[in-house]
Amino acid sequence: MRAIDVHLHPSTVPMERTLGKYRDEMLRYYRRTTPTRTEEEMVEDYRAMDVVGIPVAFDAETATGEPPCTNDYVASLVTRFPDVFIESFASVDPLKGEAATREAVRAVKELGMMGVKFAPLVQGFALNDRRFYPLWETIQGLGVPVQVHMGTTGLGAGSPGGLGIKLEYGRPIPYLDEFAADFPNLRIIACHPGWPWHDELIAVLLHKGNVVSELSGWMPKYFPPTLVHEIGGRLQDKIMFGSDYPALSPKRWLDEFADMFPQSVQDKVFRDNARRILGLKV
Ligand SMILES: [Zn+2]
Repeated sequence: MRAIDVHLHPSTVPMERTLGKYRDEMLRYYRRTTPTRTEEEMVEDYRAMDVVGIPVAFDAETATGEPPCTNDYVASLVTRFPDVFIESFASVDPLKGEAATREAVRAVKELGMMGVKFAPLVQGFALNDRRFYPLWETIQGLGVPVQVHMGTTGLGAGSPGGLGIKLEYGRPIPYLDEFAADFPNLRIIACHPGWPWHDELIAVLLHKGNVVSELSGWMPKYFPPTLVHEIGGRLQDKIMFGSDYPALSPKRWLDEFADMFPQSVQDKVFRDNARRILGLKV
């Protein structure tokens, strides 16, 4: 097995519906050509690349008005294709209040999902807003990790007003930093390199022992020099491979990364860090 992709989205009809009004501009932003797939075709894509992965659900309904790519659907992919989809991450919409907390518990306890993903920019909330602390307490109590989107986003990119999405909530400092400080027993995975605040993200990764990251949504050849330096150095045990498929091709990402870093760093980032950090048995 070449790699574990810790962050991918279904390239199927349910996720295309969730992207809704954001879809066409996002495809242009990523210059993506992948057509909508059936579940079987998506699985064949991954088998052909010799990559296993963790699909992620998506619910930003309150802020976007678009329907969720549900936890039930994403969990069912793991049940149907366990050789390719080894675990899954849930999504709950914090603006839904107590319903979000109940759904997080249901997703973990009943659907068996391994953690919960948040996208503060698109979901329209700040990680350090005290209104959401009961939700973070609950997830910390469940003992599962969270994924948190950091940096800019392809959603709304190029559209007038970015379709209303404000980039502010993607800043690592203060949002992620305060969140990590107030919930030291919560395992936090920062998603994406965090551009244009990648240096802030590096600072949080070096300072907060409960924060790790994955590098999805950004091709390695566009990594800023400071990030390249830290991946090969102090952060090589804290960084995992993620693609954000179908926005980016996992194979192209892995090939580019392999051209830039030695085998020892590839082994950690492609597989070993994910095994250790997430306790994966593959
Ligand atoms: Zn994503």
